Amino acid sequence: MPTVVGGTTQPCPECGARIHADDRFTVWCAACDWNVDPKGHQQEREKEEERGRRGKRAGRDRLEEARRALARRYGERLHTEMAQEGAGPRARWDGATTLGYAIALAVHGVTAALLAAGVFCLVWGWGGGLVLLGAVLLAMAVALRPRLPGPSDDDGTVLRRADAPELYALVDEVARAVGTRGVDRITVGKEINASVVSQGVRGRRALSLGLPLWEVLSPQQRVALLGHELGHYGNGDTRRGVVVATALRSLTVWRYYFTPIARPTVGEMLVNAVCAVPLLLVQGVLSLLDHLTLRATQRGEYLADREAARAGSTEAAAALMDQLLMTESIDVFLRREVSNAALTGARSARRAAGASADTQDAGGGLWTRLAAHIASVPEHEYERQRRAGARRGHSVDATHPPTHLRRACLLAGPPSRAAVLLDDDRSGRITAELAGARAEVARRIVRDGMG
Ligand SMILES: [Zn+2]
Ligand SMILES: [Zn+2]
Repeated sequence: MPTVVGGTTQPCPECGARIHADDRFTVWCAACDWNVDPKGHQQEREKEEERGRRGKRAGRDRLEEARRALARRYGERLHTEMAQEGAGPRARWDGATTLGYAIALAVHGVTAALLAAGVFCLVWGWGGGLVLLGAVLLAMAVALRPRLPGPSDDDGTVLRRADAPELYALVDEVARAVGTRGVDRITVGKEINASVVSQGVRGRRALSLGLPLWEVLSPQQRVALLGHELGHYGNGDTRRGVVVATALRSLTVWRYYFTPIARPTVGEMLVNAVCAVPLLLVQGVLSLLDHLTLRATQRGEYLADREAARAGSTEAAAALMDQLLMTESIDVFLRREVSNAALTGARSARRAAGASADTQDAGGGLWTRLAAHIASVPEHEYERQRRAGARRGHSVDATHPPTHLRRACLLAGPPSRAAVLLDDDRSGRITAELAGARAEVARRIVRDGMG
């Protein structure tokens, strides 16, 4: 039984067992799983209604069910494999990965062929009608070229090395521990997440650190988080990922070209008819590529978790998984803060007092209140999130395996000690370096909401 901290108890409407009711969290029953995943339940119901509205035949539903069953089956197989493998091989090529990679290369091959044909038409047909065709082909090749994400124009606060030497040093140290290099740029934002991406042709690495997640983690869990994100590079799964990701992007451009014109004229109806077959083909290749690479993507996550444990210790990495279960709670808490701040702001405006000073104050205490709130989350809420995750299972399109399996996988192997230690002194210096960004991001959350 979870320890009861405040709140009341009430009987479960399903099985009558006594359940603990804390109005800050979802009330659910540990004995029969009543109300264990209201959000997932609601999403299911909405999907059901949507299907009803569109009048899809039962065959579609069976297909959907089969896909989910398949995803669950190979998700479970992958988990067993990863748990048994222990400190086994790193990223690995299997049949699906090879096929996916080959398809991605073929997609880029088509782009190269368009480019070559365009150049040929221009040179060969110079002065004639072929020039026009050549120009069209070249324009298509340009639109379809493999393109890496450019420097993102999101609204994160940029921290240069000179602004945050201790944070950069920590990232460098974690990167060394997982066998890769550090990052060129760090931005701090309001997402409940962290990520490292390569940008541009030179592959400059950018780390974006979501403060709502960072602030609820212990120092050692922060090391594990950085270890996971940089671990993707150490494992080499991102290098392969770039070829596939750029191919997926080119395919999306193709799909855009072939998408039927809405409310067509007679002439446009002809265009739509001509585009119908290529559209089906593009969609087929898109979903095939997606499926082929899903397994490798999920595998990459397990491997990155292993790097997280190497950097920050198995204990910290497992605790990080628990904190990842709290993203929903973090989101709910911050949204509530935003609406409270809006109320206070309106009231002070009425009093003609300094509303901006109020907002500033709300920003200042936001992170402390968030950390305190998450620290007060009772074990029964963690357990509910774990069970909800297990129920949702392996969804077909999720890039990450369910969190409870990632946690189980970490704890299955021999525990690893931390390669990087973040003591209170150093952690404090990093928090001081982040002071400006913490105030800025908090202000932005209060001003613009969570989005
Ligand atoms: Zn019950
Ligand atoms: Zn990851």
